[in-house]
Amino acid sequence: MDKQQYIQETLDHQTKNTTPKYKTPLNIEKHAAKLYTRTIFRLIQVEIEESVWRCSHNVVNSEGVIETTIVKEKRKSQPVEDDLVPLQMYNTEPIHEFKVTRNTEDGNIECSCQMFLRLGILCKHIFHVLNNCDIEEIPEKYICKRWTKDLIPADVRQKKVLYSETDNEVEEMANKAISSVDYCLRALTNNKAELKEFMEKIEDMRTEIEAKELNQEKLPKEARYESMLGVRVREQNEIQNPTGIRNKGSGTGKRLKGPGEKAIE
Ligand SMILES: [Zn+2]
Repeated sequence: MDKQQYIQETLDHQTKNTTPKYKTPLNIEKHAAKLYTRTIFRLIQVEIEESVWRCSHNVVNSEGVIETTIVKEKRKSQPVEDDLVPLQMYNTEPIHEFKVTRNTEDGNIECSCQMFLRLGILCKHIFHVLNNCDIEEIPEKYICKRWTKDLIPADVRQKKVLYSETDNEVEEMANKAISSVDYCLRALTNNKAELKEFMEKIEDMRTEIEAKELNQEKLPKEARYESMLGVRVREQNEIQNPTGIRNKGSGTGKRLKGPGEKAIE
């Protein structure tokens, strides 16, 4: 558990406090770096980079709001180990074709490689098309929540780290609270007035809780320790230190002598 927590904290620190090296001048890459954890960003970065260097297209068909693009991808050729293979075989890069359909009205975009359905990240073919349409941010509906930076609020995790909170009921309630708040936030993002109201309600509750905490701190030190530990301090201490115990070699002259000392004598 310690190891896991340590790794998580280290990765979090890396995600939060460092900026990755960008491999393309595209804004969509910076947007991805802002959204995702570093590990996922590296996967997406490969897709974005390859969308620039390995993908091309020449056919765009549009029917009403549906735009269909055939994206060609040059795959890295596998090195052939047989010496007898003619030289030009080394240089042929197999070309694969993928069909990307984009709805210009609702922004839905799909690729025949189905990478988004499998992994929750967009593929190079879609990035190629997005780049071609001058879209500089990953569309909101294709941001998979489970890969984003702010999935686990830091405070919740820290509480677990610090007090090793294992009460299932508490954990369940905390999770419910988080998902409710998360739901409300997502539902209200486009409604400024209601979001403000929600924020004010939460702030009110927070001040209330803070006030309670302040009152609690006025308890005497012993009482606070007692409530934390769940053990009361005894008024009379029945267990005393043991008497008449002397440790070996503590000046009684009865200490056993080692062979070296004996030889000197
Ligand atoms: Zn694809």
